[in-house]
Amino acid sequence: MQAIIKARSEVGLELADVPRPNPGPRDVLIRVQKTGICGTDRHIYEWDAWAASRIKPPMVVGHEFVGIVADVGVGVKMVQPGDRVSGEGHIGCGYCYACRTGQSHICEKVDILGVDINGCFAPYVVLPESNIWKVDPAIPDDHACLFDPFGNAMHTVMAQPISGRQVLVVGCGSIGLMAVGILHVGGADLIIAIEPNPFKREIAKKMGADVVMEEIDPKEIKALTDRDGVDVVLEMSGNPKAIVKAFDCIRNGGDVALLGIPPGEVCITWAKQIIFRGLTIRGINGRRMYETWYQSERFLRHYPELIEPVITHRLPFDRFEDGIKAMQDGTGCKVVLDWTNAKE
Ligand SMILES: [Zn+2]
Ligand SMILES: [Zn+2]
Repeated sequence: MQAIIKARSEVGLELADVPRPNPGPRDVLIRVQKTGICGTDRHIYEWDAWAASRIKPPMVVGHEFVGIVADVGVGVKMVQPGDRVSGEGHIGCGYCYACRTGQSHICEKVDILGVDINGCFAPYVVLPESNIWKVDPAIPDDHACLFDPFGNAMHTVMAQPISGRQVLVVGCGSIGLMAVGILHVGGADLIIAIEPNPFKREIAKKMGADVVMEEIDPKEIKALTDRDGVDVVLEMSGNPKAIVKAFDCIRNGGDVALLGIPPGEVCITWAKQIIFRGLTIRGINGRRMYETWYQSERFLRHYPELIEPVITHRLPFDRFEDGIKAMQDGTGCKVVLDWTNAKE
């Protein structure tokens, strides 16, 4: 079958013929219909320090998908051929402390689809049955393939109360934009979105941001709020300078949820910025299995507008490089690839 692979330890991705995967006794084989290109795939394409340290080529990449079940192993009970499914790309080991206490999103030995094991940028992908998510028929394929990033946004927003609160969203890539939408329909009182790219700031307005700014201005942000700063910061940028500034915008006793991944250390004045101010800071990884998936599905059933404006490109799979280029030059946000015509 045709697949997008990381063939060698260097910049780029390519189309190649690879064998179709076979499902084990508890696995599900899925005929992939649509996939989303993630920032992670872009890191793998660009072969940055993280990718070089983690990825072992050759490897089929990609982890955001929707498809139709094509075959199941003998032990599979929950789904059957013909079912429309997406899936959780973080495969917990099932045995570590985190997994056994209902926290497999922070499994110590996680395998990630398209990172540690062959991914979904191909007409067929295999996942364990326990990671499969049957998709509600009300959710179209273009949206259902984005459960993964939408779940990141949902997990970050839902990590603290947001209804009736004033929230600063730092960074409006796909996940930041979806977070703005979830805050909007979830009843946030004030949503301030920070994003240097004017095209993405416009999408943030469409998603329900009350105020958009090119960069963080703590004075201006405090003036917009009722209690000398926002109640909640959602950090989606991974930009160390922005993170430091965001801590100047939050009221005492506020909540910070960190999803963006900085390239190195971030310098925060521990006592002054966190301890004396009584902040609650949470690191957010992946999606809660499967609480976040239930929440995401319920929101998407009611509010298709939480995803639609974020999709800027719909391309056949073999034009994936155009999609990555659009992400690199800032003219693209979420890129969806269509696999229906791929050679099987
Ligand atoms: Zn992703
Ligand atoms: Zn585990």
